[in-house]
Amino acid sequence: MSRERTRVIRIGDRVIGGGNPVLIQSMCNTKTQDVEATVGQIKALTEAGCDIIRVAVPDMEAAEALKQIKKQISIPLVADIHFDYRLAIASIESGADKIRINPGNIGSADRVRAVVEKAREYDIPIRVGVNSGSLEKNLIEKYGGVTAEGIVESALHKVRMIEELGYENLVISIKSSDVLMCIKAHQLIAGQSDYPLHVGITEAGTLASGTVKSSVGLGIILYEGIGDTIRVSLTGDPVEEVKTAKLILKTLGLRKGGVEVVSCPTCGRTRIDLISLANQVEKMVSEFDHLDIKVAVMGCVVNGPGEAREADLGIAGGIGEGLLIKKGEVIRKVPEDELLNALKEELIKMQ
Ligand code: SF4
Repeated sequence: MSRERTRVIRIGDRVIGGGNPVLIQSMCNTKTQDVEATVGQIKALTEAGCDIIRVAVPDMEAAEALKQIKKQISIPLVADIHFDYRLAIASIESGADKIRINPGNIGSADRVRAVVEKAREYDIPIRVGVNSGSLEKNLIEKYGGVTAEGIVESALHKVRMIEELGYENLVISIKSSDVLMCIKAHQLIAGQSDYPLHVGITEAGTLASGTVKSSVGLGIILYEGIGDTIRVSLTGDPVEEVKTAKLILKTLGLRKGGVEVVSCPTCGRTRIDLISLANQVEKMVSEFDHLDIKVAVMGCVVNGPGEAREADLGIAGGIGEGLLIKKGEVIRKVPEDELLNALKEELIKMQ
């Protein structure tokens, strides 16, 4: 189903599906048992714009730590469980707002039933997650390898297992590190299910390659109207995941707010240190996330004033100085080393 028509599911105090805004998830890379470090990271992620946070629950100490973590954070907490159904039950009792399991590796039907009964008691959703890396042998044989069709069949089979227990408070995620396979799998499953979809390109890689793969994969899937929550998966600081996810949503017109920085690629005409300035501007504007504007950082007067006219605020570089432009009007000339501050002052005035 397109995101307009998926079921509405509540996760803590947020709702997804049914045309609600696409929410951003990330996952902590701290040890969940280390409550202080985990809470610190969740706060940094919340500040960056994360809507829902997932943590790994590898043992009972981690499941127990969720109680303390929950008390100190303001966004819904998802517990990620593999293999041991008792960890799922303990996480729910500790206050998890949602659990992520792969029913295929939780064990016998009785164990899956015990988890489902606990989720029902606490009225929290279960995310049924399937990764291409853990696709069942019979499906690999049936489809002659790991395929989008196999991933979808695996996910829907697990969903049915839980539906047969009378529980439909579900979210589905199907992930693959193969971008094209991931896109195809989402197209297929969207035609066969109306549960909300959590979308991500798994094991996408480090900052550069992960950003490209996630942007292409998530970009296409979201543009087709599929996906209710997203996670950009990067080998690095999860704050970068959230920043990238925000930019993907903003680029697709799925999220408003924030300062969009456009900057020129520089060329032989550039006479100021524009690369460093553009990077500093991008960092500085993150303080002004509540504004919804465009800032242009341009290297010279050839395209600078034109591009800056399209923006709310802009700089066009000169020799050791720059023109400060607001709503298409040149306000003043500013020495190069004062350009960043001058922009910041203008942003403060626009608040
Ligand atoms: S804006 Fe000026 S400096 Fe920047 S790429 Fe264009 S011509 Fe070159």
